[in-house]
Amino acid sequence: MRLKHIKGAEEAVARSPFVIHDAKERPGAWRQLFGNENPIHMEIGMGKGRFLMELAARNPQINYIGVERYSSVLLRALQKMEEEPLPNLYFLCEDAAELEEFFAPGEVDRIYLNFSDPWPKARHARRRLTSVNHLARYAAVLSGEGRVEFKTDNEALFDFSLESVEEAGWRLLECTRNLHQDPRMNEGNIMTEYEEKFSAKGNPIFKLTAVPPRDLPGTDA
Ligand code: SAH
Repeated sequence: MRLKHIKGAEEAVARSPFVIHDAKERPGAWRQLFGNENPIHMEIGMGKGRFLMELAARNPQINYIGVERYSSVLLRALQKMEEEPLPNLYFLCEDAAELEEFFAPGEVDRIYLNFSDPWPKARHARRRLTSVNHLARYAAVLSGEGRVEFKTDNEALFDFSLESVEEAGWRLLECTRNLHQDPRMNEGNIMTEYEEKFSAKGNPIFKLTAVPPRDLPGTDA
């Protein structure tokens, strides 16, 4: 997301009670923070947070964490939270590359990736949030029931992501190249800011759901 530097954004994020500032002290302690044993779902690259805030309002029995690396983008979500605070939602102003430092193995139950930056140049492929190296980070923090749900309007990024899923040994649970025309996968779909913008231009929306490789009992390597 291209955003101008917004004056005061860093300070506002640093003071916000909705942002977790000591995430590296938290692995294994996220349920304590929320004060319950509910599942934890996370969006990485949440932008202004509309998708996640709608989910959190609809599903009080699920805990949500939004990760956004840029304070000037996260600021918009903080402003919305001030108007309508949600007890089951916190934000991290961090880089997804550090995920394993914030969460214990198995602590996260679902990861949403929505309209992730495409990084079209081949030399930047490792930065794509669906690259094999990022999938390994997700696999490290996801629970046994965990999954990744990824939406984009960028066909090249989607094809790259399908290849990553296969290369990383993940299992593809569902996949569509036109989400809004797929009644089953579109049921209950919550549109993100980018999804609304790009589908209004006529772009089809691609979606996949995948689960990390599981260690099968009795197959110790
Ligand atoms: N999910 C939102 C925003 C999509 S734009 C929507 O669908 O409307 C992608 C967002 O991901 C940007 O705000 C960008 O700053 C953030 N982002 C990209 N790489 C990231 C990373 N490594 N860690 C955290 N956030 C990241």
